[in-house]
Amino acid sequence: MTTMFNNNHREAPAPEKGSPRIRVTDLDAGYPGRPVLRQLTAEIPALAMTVLVGPNGSGKSTLLGVLAGVIETTAGQLRYSGGRPPAFVPQRGAVGDALPLTVRQTVEMGRWGERGLWRRLTVQDRTVVDSAMDRLGVADLSGRQLGELSGGQRQRVLISQGLAQRSDLLLLDEPTTGLDPEARERIAALLTELVADGTTVVQATHDLEAARAADACLLLSDGRLVARGTPEEVLTAEALARIWQPA
Ligand code: ADP
Repeated sequence: MTTMFNNNHREAPAPEKGSPRIRVTDLDAGYPGRPVLRQLTAEIPALAMTVLVGPNGSGKSTLLGVLAGVIETTAGQLRYSGGRPPAFVPQRGAVGDALPLTVRQTVEMGRWGERGLWRRLTVQDRTVVDSAMDRLGVADLSGRQLGELSGGQRQRVLISQGLAQRSDLLLLDEPTTGLDPEARERIAALLTELVADGTTVVQATHDLEAARAADACLLLSDGRLVARGTPEEVLTAEALARIWQPA
């Protein structure tokens, strides 16, 4: 649930709709002793919804980590056009159930990037936190422990934390996995609203409905980009069989 920022990311005017918000060229990245992404070239369009799809282990989370600036690249280029440092919402499963944090404390962590760890939050920070919690409908859970919440509630809290960072670039790792249809729809609707309000959203997903509703789709397989385009172009019968084959 760490709040991630890329230090190289300079604040500048956000790019126009459809122009590249992020461009990666011939990118290699992975973990110590474990190369994952290979020769990846792709663009993330600004003010649009991009989905990353592919089988388990194909490198979707790794690519999100690279875009968030928390996984180092070993070759190639990663270029951001303008805007603010990205906000990263990791997989719900990556967040410890037993962390002794309340909902409000969790969302407040979204302000640390701007405020620093040790400075008190300002009145304005609190307003940002309140509005992020309101937007996700978790304000009434504010004093509850994260570990007591349902999966859908916890996911909404993590997205609130992302919103509290006030970034124009939101990266989410499988935000709807394991949720019931109602919770999934609620999150999908919110992400659509955020795009309409001027946010660039990138999500890794196994949710076919979410993938079909996106503006742009990147299909990964074994660390390589094997297709990119609109969902209609990318999500062919062959691609779907590939995505849902056992890893
Ligand atoms: P996806 O999100 O598509 O399921 P990942 O990016 O999580 O794929 O994983 C890509 C590959 O990287 C997998 O083979 C996975 O085992 C490996 N991997 C993921 N995280 C780590 C890590 N922290 N250390 C080493 N290898 C990892």
